[in-house]
Amino acid sequence: MSAVVVENLVVAYGDHEVVKGVSLNVRKGEKVVIMGPSGSGKSTFLRSLIWLVKPKQGRIVIDGVEVGPATLAKVRTRVGFVFQSYNLFPHLRVIDNIVLPLVKVHKLPLSEARERAMEALQLVGLLDKANAYPLQLSGGQQQRVAIARALAIRPSVLMLDEPTSALDPELVEEVLQVLEDIARRGTTMLIVTHEVDFAEDVADRVVFFENGKIVEEGPPEILYNPRTERLRQFLRRLH
Ligand code: ADP
Ligand code: MG
Repeated sequence: MSAVVVENLVVAYGDHEVVKGVSLNVRKGEKVVIMGPSGSGKSTFLRSLIWLVKPKQGRIVIDGVEVGPATLAKVRTRVGFVFQSYNLFPHLRVIDNIVLPLVKVHKLPLSEARERAMEALQLVGLLDKANAYPLQLSGGQQQRVAIARALAIRPSVLMLDEPTSALDPELVEEVLQVLEDIARRGTTMLIVTHEVDFAEDVADRVVFFENGKIVEEGPPEILYNPRTERLRQFLRRLH
């Protein structure tokens, strides 16, 4: 069974097409890492899956539900999204950053929301920071809170857009470690990242974007043995 089906997706900003007919089928439990040069359309692609940017053309099915005007709100409740910048509310305590969407959007009773929030904080190793404010935490800890917030909704699919690229180098590892733990629990994940070692350890499949298209995909081994010159060049520039 597929967690995400994308068929011939086209996304444009005005006349500028940036996703140019992408198809992708993600199995339940599969971990897909998306790589590609800056500006190749990775973020637009990910965002368009839940219509944060509305596609111009194509079909998207998430968790068995075709994304459309009538289903969008429901589909979004099934998708956890983590952005490069953590997007936490600075005036709310860590716990309330997680509880608020559960109560407001997911309509959970407060007691259950708090339970789920604590459980999610435990998963990312931040139970002891529940009552802190985001700005009292390091960048890595803030991103782990954002990951906990996404997990607390118990998503069918977790989508992460360069979750470590805004972090100081010494904070990257703790976030990758948390993501690796989550991956091992069987969550379906779509992750844009350039962390090659992480991709090697976690990904079932690596998808390489260029100029709005998938130009190469395969098991993580393609990172060591690319078929296309484009991926070879991209990887050379990473090291
Ligand atoms: P990536 O995530 O691979 O770096 P993006 O999806 O962010 O690529 O961007 C793809 C292209 O779309 C780039 O040319 C970028 O300038 C353009 N773009 C991204 N966001 C917007 C936007 N909100 N409005 C107009 N153009 C955009
Ligand atoms: Mg991007």
